[in-house]
Amino acid sequence: MNKIWLSSPHMGGTEMSYMQEAYDSNWIAPLGPNVTAFEEALEKYVKEEAVVACLASGTSALHLALIMAGVTSGDTVLCQSFTFSASANPIRYQGANPIFIDSEITTWNMCPIALEEAIKDQIVQGKKPKAIIVVHLYGMPAKITEICAIANEYDIILIEDAAEALGSTYEGKKCGTFGNFGILSFNGNKIITTSGGGALVCKNEESKKRAIYLATQARDVAAHFQHSEIGYNYRMSNVLAGIGRGQMEVLDKHIGLRRANQEFYKKIFLEVPGITVFEEPNTAYFSNHWLSTITIDKAKTGFSREDLRLSLWEDIIESRPLWKPMHLQPIFKNCAYYGEQIAEKLFENGLCLPSGSNLTEEDRMRIENSIRKLF
Ligand SMILES: *Cc1c(COP(=O)(O)O)cnc(C)c1O
Repeated sequence: MNKIWLSSPHMGGTEMSYMQEAYDSNWIAPLGPNVTAFEEALEKYVKEEAVVACLASGTSALHLALIMAGVTSGDTVLCQSFTFSASANPIRYQGANPIFIDSEITTWNMCPIALEEAIKDQIVQGKKPKAIIVVHLYGMPAKITEICAIANEYDIILIEDAAEALGSTYEGKKCGTFGNFGILSFNGNKIITTSGGGALVCKNEESKKRAIYLATQARDVAAHFQHSEIGYNYRMSNVLAGIGRGQMEVLDKHIGLRRANQEFYKKIFLEVPGITVFEEPNTAYFSNHWLSTITIDKAKTGFSREDLRLSLWEDIIESRPLWKPMHLQPIFKNCAYYGEQIAEKLFENGLCLPSGSNLTEEDRMRIENSIRKLF
């Protein structure tokens, strides 16, 4: 039996020809026509006036956003606790201190009330936070209007981690274009992939120029190599950008397929008391449903999320607990946290189900039969 993956790469068909172009023209470098064309395609896709810089990863994009937000040693940065560690690690790269904010129950993302409480409390303690990192987890847009209003009111830079949310929108506007910076990821299991890669969505050309300068070793204008700042090697490979160009051609189709997966799970669990398929709170929200997720109320089902996970695994079907909140991670155990344990409860009871845009009808039948074994 083949393994059914949680989320595996799904090529559209034209990727190879763009990579071949890179090879034939000898643009085997961290810049070139594929990088430029991929950036243009992303700009057109997220927002006409957005400016996008393609980078080596989503993590490097987040790191550059923090540097450009002026975050340095000893600063504090407010970060959503319910996320993947890559949202928080770059705060430590800068020697700054993360403060973790709980989620709210309708979007599973940053709770605006806990966020404001943290800002007020930190200001009273004489430490105004330098930046806010909000995440659109599993593709679900956060309560972005409220978060933007708070960032504006207290004049704090807002960074949107849209690594999982390419194509998701709130009131018709794409995730990643609300804050001062947005970051995207094209890692192997994301909605589109370049094997590894990411992008920084900037507000203007000047900002993109600075990002690229930092991403290419911060080289001064001179014939020789001269540097006045610490630089990084964070630009995207022109070969990999070729995959990205091809993936852009099937992005909306693949979002449709991911959303169909979520409908498939809604149908299965419709009559199962105690299992809730995660969905948009109302029609203002449009999720790409990168991963379909459920929460299980063990008192009603008689089985836990681990029971279901292990049962699926007996049939070689991969599923995964929801992200373990950052404030519960050993590495961040000494960091401050504001909230009411919403994220903790989600972690305890939640499961991500196979969600690839390349699931076949046969895969779905296997998944459905496997799930039905439990009830
Ligand atoms: C994948 C991911 C990242 C990191 O992106 P990479 O391209 O893997 O570095 C950051 N944040 C979230 C929420 C992610 O899921």
